[in-house]
Amino acid sequence: MCESDLVNAPETRPSVVVIGAGMAGLTAAHRLQERCDVIVLDKGRGVGGRLATRRIGDATIDHGAQFITTHTDEFATTIAQLVDSGVVAPWFRGRIGPNGVVDPDGHKRFRGAASMNAVAKAFAVGLDVRTASLVSSLVHDGKSWTVVLADGTELQADGIVVTSPVPQTLALLESGGVVLTPNDAEALALIEYDPCLAFMAVLDGPSGLSEPGAVDPVEGPIDWMADNQLKGISAVPAVTIHATADFSASNFDATDDEIADALFAAAGLAANVVPGSVQIQRWRYARPSVEHPERFLQLSGVPPLVCAGDAFGGAKVEGAALSGAAAAEAIENALGGSS
Ligand SMILES: Cc1cc2nc3c(=O)[nH]c(=O)nc-3n(C[C@H](O)[C@H](O)[C@H](O)COP(=O)(O)OP(=O)(O)OC[C@H]3O[C@@H](n4cnc5c(N)ncnc54)[C@H](O)[C@@H]3O)c2cc1C
Repeated sequence: MCESDLVNAPETRPSVVVIGAGMAGLTAAHRLQERCDVIVLDKGRGVGGRLATRRIGDATIDHGAQFITTHTDEFATTIAQLVDSGVVAPWFRGRIGPNGVVDPDGHKRFRGAASMNAVAKAFAVGLDVRTASLVSSLVHDGKSWTVVLADGTELQADGIVVTSPVPQTLALLESGGVVLTPNDAEALALIEYDPCLAFMAVLDGPSGLSEPGAVDPVEGPIDWMADNQLKGISAVPAVTIHATADFSASNFDATDDEIADALFAAAGLAANVVPGSVQIQRWRYARPSVEHPERFLQLSGVPPLVCAGDAFGGAKVEGAALSGAAAAEAIENALGGSS
């Protein structure tokens, strides 16, 4: 029960483990913590998942999600609060074409005021988040769950919200011997992701990009390029280049040097790369290309476990947040709580 109906009876709070401290997991944990004991586990060194920022020398480089958009009142309210508190700032409006912003009256794009990862850090405040915690399997006894970490630690949970990319979630379930119903197995197997190769480098001078500091080419191997200094987050010139899904899939196993050479040559930047500053991030599950039609999937025939993340809510930061919120409500309902 999430709430005791009995006067004077001690309130029992169900335990929920949330796997993943990206936007979906952090949103779910916030919604759940009022009524449940919540632990968030993430394998990364920090929170954020694909809200990712790297520091290279004096440069600050967003190398996952580049901006946040809002298409629902619910998420717009969240972002407005983050703008008020200085965590999020407006970046530009509309879409970026090859020659700059093409529809300046279009949708607002927000950036993390300090970085995209700082947005996740703000969301993590007040939560019991345990980083460097790689979950290796999920086991149940018909009533509750045991979450097994790679270091051998075991956590008991009445319910689980899993926000890892779906192929990784399936591996956790398989490793724990969880048998999926044919419907659930089929629904999860349908979900697919595109990869993305991300190139980061510090430059020895201005990139040559103009305000607002981003380019969205229509052809070639580059899907998106941003100048993090013009964006307002880096003290020195530094670029992020995202390869297209096709280029990323074809070159995913190429060496860092091969990827860097191809992308930098295609970028046509005005400045040179500072020697030793190039880093490549391989996002195997960058964005869902085939999504689940609902905001979450609660597994049947097992104790409460809800799959969530951007593959359920929409392939964006907003979709991840909406999925996390819906998953929290679903797990609360499954645990017998009332809102
Ligand atoms: C290159 C790129 C550019 C993008 N650009 C934009 C953009 O401009 N705007 C936009 O709105 N969206 C963008 N997106 C998409 C956006 O980043 C995602 O939709 C959103 O951040 C997904 O959040 P999530 O919580 O669902 O997943 P994630 O952020 O991936 O979080 C899942 C978390 O689970 C953790 N995890 C996985 N397996 C385990 C395990 N076994 N044990 C413990 N932890 C585990 C991971 O470490 C990760 O932190 C972009 C994504 C990429 C990769």
